[in-house]
Amino acid sequence: MNLLTLAVAAPGTAAVEAGIERWIDLVYLVSAVGFIMALKWLSHPSTARKGVKAGEIGMLLAIVGTLMKEEIVEYQWIVIAMVIGAAIGVPLALLMKMTAVPQRTAFSHALGALAAGLVGTAEFYLHGASLSKVALTAIGFEVVLGYLTFTGSLMAFGKLQGILPGKPILYKGQNFVNLGMFGASVAIAGYLVVNPGATHLFPWLIGLTLLFGIALIVPIGGADMPTVIALLNGYAGLAAAAMGFALNNKLLIIAGALDGTSGLILSIIMCKAMNRSFTNVLFGGFGATAHIKDGHVEERSVRSISPEETAQMLENSESVIIIPGYGMAVSQAQHKVRELYDALTKKGVDVRFAIHPVAGRMPGHMNVLLAEADIPYDRLIDMDEINSDFPQTDVALIIGANDVVNPAARTDKTSPIFGMPILNADQAQTVMVVKRGMSAGFAGVENELFFEDKTMMLFGDAKGYIADVVKELSGVHAGH
Ligand code: NDP
Repeated sequence: MNLLTLAVAAPGTAAVEAGIERWIDLVYLVSAVGFIMALKWLSHPSTARKGVKAGEIGMLLAIVGTLMKEEIVEYQWIVIAMVIGAAIGVPLALLMKMTAVPQRTAFSHALGALAAGLVGTAEFYLHGASLSKVALTAIGFEVVLGYLTFTGSLMAFGKLQGILPGKPILYKGQNFVNLGMFGASVAIAGYLVVNPGATHLFPWLIGLTLLFGIALIVPIGGADMPTVIALLNGYAGLAAAAMGFALNNKLLIIAGALDGTSGLILSIIMCKAMNRSFTNVLFGGFGATAHIKDGHVEERSVRSISPEETAQMLENSESVIIIPGYGMAVSQAQHKVRELYDALTKKGVDVRFAIHPVAGRMPGHMNVLLAEADIPYDRLIDMDEINSDFPQTDVALIIGANDVVNPAARTDKTSPIFGMPILNADQAQTVMVVKRGMSAGFAGVENELFFEDKTMMLFGDAKGYIADVVKELSGVHAGH
């Protein structure tokens, strides 16, 4: 009997408890609708904020419903854990930079998956002998997925944060070793379903899956980490769904299934946008080899122009397509880009933004940044829609993007990005590229577009350079 029950009615009556259960079911139902609407609304920038709110309300209701449950006998530990969690979570969310979202997401998955693994472990040791085979199978799933996602996500966090080397580490027979470890974990989990009394095997199951999580990420390079994080997100969701079966909690099953499937779908979308297969991401060792010929960048000449010349060329054009990329995110140039958009639009230039599905370092990265700067949604055009407009466009202005406009993806069969769909910036009349130097993009490959005759390099930090162009356009720069 919990506090709420005591507060509402005389304790102990079966009718009251059944009434509370019905209320909990109703609260869970509304919460599940909140999660589903959150996913739906999050799929478009114009409704994304509403989606976040729906998810928050869904989660609040899920917590309230769970706290009403009869199994909750004491509140003090829950309150202490919530206070500690909020004390860590709120500053983490407020202080963390946008570019660090992938590693923060990996860290959250690690903790969620650890929770699933620990709950499964507790269930097994406390009630294992009396549980049905179905419940034991669910615990097996939960423990295997939970612990492998825990160490896998920590590895992903380490690689993205730069604590661990980002390069893939490959050795002979690696896939064989990894599959062996995974097979052994599944075999032990299966044995424990049939013989739950063999508790001495459980620590082996935990140890092997923890080790497998590490081994799974070792051969994957930093470039593939966001895709892997989406996949690990899927695993963590499935672990939570299995936990729902083990604890007989319907909402956990629904939320886990939504989380699991959306994570898997997201990783499939990302693989498609990079023209990579799942197996290539998981076992490919992408980024292990040096892609720049002979290990050094060749000395070749490029055309570079000043912010003043850039401003003149932009204001004399009729149509401009801005292509934002990872560098815009690093430099946090989105607000200056908005000012540039305003200044050019005021001068009658048609300005649109071309959004590549994997520009930046996380799905929807560019949409989030440009929405933050209040750029109208109808000016953000997806790759498939805008690609045919480039030949009729005066200027393709690339701001901190590289791989997503690299024509090698179309033409060079030996390139690691060959086959990845790209934005056809090279087909515009003039190409302008804002970047700090001649460094490669995330895939580590050189970009021939920068050496073409029609390409102007605008060297500088994106935010500073665009700010200078805006000053030139508004005529307030010294000398005007
Ligand atoms: P890239 O990583 O290819 O290139 C970014 C460019 O920005 C660099 O060449 C860099 O050049 C420049 N840059 C960095 N900092 C600044 C700055 N402060 N000011 C100006 N320029 C800067 O970015 P893209 O967005 O084109 O491509 C994304 C890559 O990430 C793709 O390879 C994609 O597959 C991969 N990826 C994306 C995922 C996603 O979900 N979005 C997930 C997984 C991978 P310089 O140092 O010379 O300035």
